[in-house]
Amino acid sequence: MPVACSAKCGAPAVLKRPKTGDTLCKECFFNAFELEIHHTIVKNKLFEKHRRVAIAASGGKDSTVLAHVLKVLNERYTYGLDLVLLSIDEGITGYRDDSLETVKQNKEDYEMDLKILSYNELYGWTMDAIVNQIGRKNNCTFCGVFRRQALDRGAALLRVDCVVTGHNADDIAETVLMNVLRGDIARLQRCTDIITTGSDSIPRCKPLKYAYEKEIVMYAYYKKLVYFSTECIFAPNAYRGHARTFLKHLEKIRPASIMDIIHSGEQFSIKEGVKLPNREICKLCGYLSSQPVCKACSLLEGLNKGLPKLSLSKQSVQNRIRLENQIKIQQAVAQL
Ligand code: SF4
Ligand code: ZN
Repeated sequence: MPVACSAKCGAPAVLKRPKTGDTLCKECFFNAFELEIHHTIVKNKLFEKHRRVAIAASGGKDSTVLAHVLKVLNERYTYGLDLVLLSIDEGITGYRDDSLETVKQNKEDYEMDLKILSYNELYGWTMDAIVNQIGRKNNCTFCGVFRRQALDRGAALLRVDCVVTGHNADDIAETVLMNVLRGDIARLQRCTDIITTGSDSIPRCKPLKYAYEKEIVMYAYYKKLVYFSTECIFAPNAYRGHARTFLKHLEKIRPASIMDIIHSGEQFSIKEGVKLPNREICKLCGYLSSQPVCKACSLLEGLNKGLPKLSLSKQSVQNRIRLENQIKIQQAVAQL
């Protein structure tokens, strides 16, 4: 005997919501999922009317669902937003080239303009070339730092008022866990913020902050959305991978763990007097930075000098100079 939809619509239930345990029919699940995102947007005042908003689109499930839901809500609740897609091409053969095809499909399906910016045009390096030079150990550090700045640059080019990203509840809970484990107070303070400021002051918003990954997959599946699900060939980011596995174990025992971790993260506050990094303008690129030269510029400098490990080091300037000199001496000795 089929179970009736718990929203009492009269239809048989086809799924159990991972977040609430409700048994729902497809339509009632779509409504509940979309309504929660609408509430997140309204409650947190993510957008003002008639704003131009860039959706950071990777072709993956999160950004595809985000683009779809924002289009639906924009029409249903007359937000009056001008939505555009912004994609970053890291230059990863066999991964990003394929996923960008999905974004191009999204552009057609959702009738939105699409801007693709590549690491190659911005930095003169592809991730393929970076991995060739540095190996597979710190590649995600380079990729993450460059992507953050590339999104800022894309947002400025598109003259948008805000960039929305597909970070979901699982991603945020994982980040809280990682920052606790690393004792990274500065990041812990801001990682649960639903609106953050990019390094050029264009706000970044996370409308899927409270959406469970499992429900995003379910929504994409039942809506038959086209998305790219292959993992990056240069993954895994080992540390995040462990946090993710730990979170999945917790979720199995208690699905509410994801929300609880996010709420715990939101409660953290920093004791008065704790020194946080300054925000200043990078001397080289003009974007906001916590150092005189931003991380993207210092990583790029390391790559261009053929010394990428230098820019990864957290050591002082003196140590950096010492290391540079040591390498010069080693190179000179090798030439003897
Ligand atoms: Fe970039 Fe690492 Fe993500 Fe691949 S897994 S896209 S290298 S951050
Ligand atoms: Zn810079």
